[in-house]
Amino acid sequence: MVRALQIFLLLITAGAALALAKPMSPTQSTQHEHTSMHINPGYPRQVVSLRKFPYPFQAMLAIESDADHVTLRKFNLIHEFLNTTIDTPMGRGLGLDVSDSFFLYNGSNLRYTIDTNHTPLAKEMTFFKGVSQQLYYGPILLHYIKAGWIDTIHSMGDFSRIGARGTLFTRAEAVYGMRYLMAHGVRLTVFTDHGNQSNRANFGAYGYQDNAFFDYQQGDNPYSPYYVTDLLRKEGVRFVWADIYNNQYSYSSMIYPIHLRDGHSIWGFWRFTGTLNLIKRPDHPWVYDWHDFWNPYDLYRELAPGLLQQLIRTHGYTIIAQHLEGNPNRFVLPTSAIESLVRLAHMQDHGLILVARTSRLLLYNLVQQYLRYRTSYTRGVTYINIEDVADPVDGTFIPDRNQLHGITFVVQDPRQTVITVRGRPIPVQWLKRTAHTIGIVWYPPNTANYAVNSNAALRRGLTFEAIPFAWY
Ligand SMILES: [Zn+2]
Repeated sequence: MVRALQIFLLLITAGAALALAKPMSPTQSTQHEHTSMHINPGYPRQVVSLRKFPYPFQAMLAIESDADHVTLRKFNLIHEFLNTTIDTPMGRGLGLDVSDSFFLYNGSNLRYTIDTNHTPLAKEMTFFKGVSQQLYYGPILLHYIKAGWIDTIHSMGDFSRIGARGTLFTRAEAVYGMRYLMAHGVRLTVFTDHGNQSNRANFGAYGYQDNAFFDYQQGDNPYSPYYVTDLLRKEGVRFVWADIYNNQYSYSSMIYPIHLRDGHSIWGFWRFTGTLNLIKRPDHPWVYDWHDFWNPYDLYRELAPGLLQQLIRTHGYTIIAQHLEGNPNRFVLPTSAIESLVRLAHMQDHGLILVARTSRLLLYNLVQQYLRYRTSYTRGVTYINIEDVADPVDGTFIPDRNQLHGITFVVQDPRQTVITVRGRPIPVQWLKRTAHTIGIVWYPPNTANYAVNSNAALRRGLTFEAIPFAWY
């Protein structure tokens, strides 16, 4: 009996040793790459083309949620349902990659109830308390940013005022906020404009279609006391939604260059905000009027089966604007929104639409659109040599592996194909080969539950930890 147990333990130890031997250094993996390919030196040179989306997907979609009226309670309910796979009050978690946005400050005097128990707008979940430097939800927001549940800065805070009269925003607040984020290792790439004309740090649409409405935007004006784009460049922001409503759903590319008043450029991106309708107002002629779909009650319109089919048919991108935590409802989302999200998750499971957080969709869009590569051929092997990304706004750069997630090529035989970046082969564990594609893996799924209920709970040791690496 004792001996049998000893043998059993010996077997376990041997198994553990084998398991430990598995991880490979880059050079070993390169050898593995070549030896595992069973190269046929007579195999002809292949025709290579860049796929629009990671295999097998036909389209890509992001849900971009603005932080208006968010409370910690609603944020946790939303992201436990969307991002994890646990049982939640809205149903089994969907495991989708949906990120969110946040406010640094609350300088609003609008009179709204934002949650149950008559919670006023003064209790909105912001990084700092009011417009002070005192931390409010800052530690929790940092935790969510590092976890990936937040990837977007929503203006420089919530500065909407009644009647858009005046503002509590100052450049000093932006300086302090950006310094704080950078000191905590946070680099965010996406910025979205918020609210009414009191939000002077908004930028990106000044002069757009000669529309005087956008004159309030001073964020990119170096002569304005509300100038912020120099600070945002240091933070790493390279994509902005410039407060321009849009009714186009499917795009071949979501990004367009914006020339800022400080002489620099930045990528703008489009969001689907609703439909533009011709309506008759009493005592007025016919006028165009936006019907916004960015309240959860209209999420089912943004995820309507017809629109999703159009997205797939046209192999497009879409970014839908939302305010997932925008209503003061106990269950946060109405049934129609929950049903639409469940259907969307099924479409991802079936390999049709890849749901990605906004920052990932935009980076992928940029890299895929401007990727330059050459192919070469040696003794049966076709080499796809990635040279650089010819980014016309921020300048040409050589992508690192983390910037190549999802890049996929269509070939005849991926077993006779190698991808390199400037001549260095991509390690085999970063590659995904299917019958006729070879590509760099998409981001690993992360369905961990990062929800915390208070700053105190966070301090008690519930701190962010990177999840183990596991690929699709
Ligand atoms: Zn907003």
